[in-house]
Amino acid sequence: MPGAATLLRDVFGFDAFRPGQEDIVTAVARGENVLAIMPTGGGKSLCFQLPALLRDGVTVVISPLIALMRDQVRALREAGVEAGALTSGNTEEETAAVWDALEGGRLKLLYIAPERLAAGSAMGMLRRIGVSLIAVDEAHCVSQWGHDFRPDYLRIGELRRALDVPLAAFTATADAETQAEIIEKLFDGQTPQTFLHGFDRPNIHLAFTPKESPRRQIMDFAAARKGQSGIVYCGSRAKTEGLAKALCDSGHNACHYHGGMEAEDRRAVEARFNSEDGLIVVATVAFGMGVDKPDIRWVAHADLPKSIEAYYQEIGRAGRDGAPAETLTLFGPDDIRLRRSQIDEGLAPPERRMADHGRLNALLGLAEALECRRTTLLGYFGEQATPCGHCDLCDTPPETFDGTQPVRKALSAILRTEERFGAGHLIDILTGNATDKVRERGHDTLPTFGVGRDLERRTWQGVFRQMMGHDLVRPDPERHGALRMTEAARPILRDEQPITLRRDTLVSKTRRPAAKALVSDEDAPLLSALKAKRRALAEAAKVPAYVVFND
Ligand code: ADP
Ligand code: MG
Ligand code: ZN
Repeated sequence: MPGAATLLRDVFGFDAFRPGQEDIVTAVARGENVLAIMPTGGGKSLCFQLPALLRDGVTVVISPLIALMRDQVRALREAGVEAGALTSGNTEEETAAVWDALEGGRLKLLYIAPERLAAGSAMGMLRRIGVSLIAVDEAHCVSQWGHDFRPDYLRIGELRRALDVPLAAFTATADAETQAEIIEKLFDGQTPQTFLHGFDRPNIHLAFTPKESPRRQIMDFAAARKGQSGIVYCGSRAKTEGLAKALCDSGHNACHYHGGMEAEDRRAVEARFNSEDGLIVVATVAFGMGVDKPDIRWVAHADLPKSIEAYYQEIGRAGRDGAPAETLTLFGPDDIRLRRSQIDEGLAPPERRMADHGRLNALLGLAEALECRRTTLLGYFGEQATPCGHCDLCDTPPETFDGTQPVRKALSAILRTEERFGAGHLIDILTGNATDKVRERGHDTLPTFGVGRDLERRTWQGVFRQMMGHDLVRPDPERHGALRMTEAARPILRDEQPITLRRDTLVSKTRRPAAKALVSDEDAPLLSALKAKRRALAEAAKVPAYVVFND
């Protein structure tokens, strides 16, 4: 039987648990009675769907809305899980198919509408089919005082007694009265294992920094925390070895860890880390499952994690003891390129790739955030928070400025060179740097040539990075490094929407007279010609175009 982490990846297509999920999944799979309170959008469904696959027999899911049940059943089936629903909305064939699967012992999840429980036959049926777990979604519907009260939910307690199996209840409603009512009605007053943690880990300081010289940045971070236990996450195996060596050379107690090592060697590192004080492990994401150390004082990312969930999980290994812990995440355009291409070159179906790009975008949005990191992070998980006072952006609020014109210039340079070039060449054009490549291609005669002379090269690099972070441009997986404009950039190019950038990356050089103005009318025909070309290219290559223009 594959483990939870494998199922998470292979069946559900997620690379990390969301906050709180892992503990809940473990408790539910173990057969505990569980009450889990998690914000809307936090990922409650997974907390019963995954344990259902880990347990023998059928998990009965009670959920108040037929549409919701059907959606979940469809998604599970698409992921290859045997799931079915018995609701009044079923066709006869659907019901017959569910019965078939039940009788064949194949069904893993059976969704039932609460009103079904009223029928005497349902109880008998459920008794016969080998139910191993009852999951109650939207458990607050049992509360008579809440506005979602569903009388049929009151039968669930009876069902639990009749089947004598564990019950896991899920809700987003956290008030004490509702909780007490759920415990009384669903668990006969026996307090279940209760999970109510907000997602916030207030003792963890959050910080992101653009990559400049990553090794030096990590070495400096580690040097300031000498003697403390920490983890450095790297994007490649080779890098873990190089960085661990560099840390040792400068007097740290460090070692590397990655999936290419012998199992025995990996266990040895885990054991050392868990028992020794002040060891630094430089690792790929393979490091984590075997780690159970409450006093990890810091976690650094030498490369950008895969998604916002992966980020949260990895930094969450720090400071489990509640004492202050620090984090630093480095990110740069190469990371974005790498992560995008990993998604595009993966074998996942298109919808899943789109979702993965979305989760990466969320992380990039966090990396380029202008206000409190924690509020941004928790907001993604559905939790509201006020500025935390304990992140790099609260410590030093970034200066912002209207980046609309620089971004428009950059977009124009991209369009005028037909989306065939990377940031380096585009910056040469913008800053009027007539390199051989620029001259060979005649790019020194473009109207955009030199329109960005007012900013330094390094500043332009920041603008391009932020453009990638805001998903205005994406690296083309077919032509490495070439930047393509996305749909999101269009209103900015057309000057219909402004964009705010961080000042710290935009240091104005000596003042110069304003460069040639950008004529957006001139860009419009270019844009439509490019669109047509892009569609033809995409069709020829049978790959979906990055950017689908709707008009
Ligand atoms: P809830 O029921 O708590 O409101 P859902 O179960 O509907 O939340 O999940 C909300 C969204 O989060 C869904 O789109 C789901 O696919 C996504 N999700 C759940 N768990 C994860 C995870 N570990 N990684 C990434 N996305 C996840
Ligand atoms: Mg839900
Ligand atoms: Zn903050």
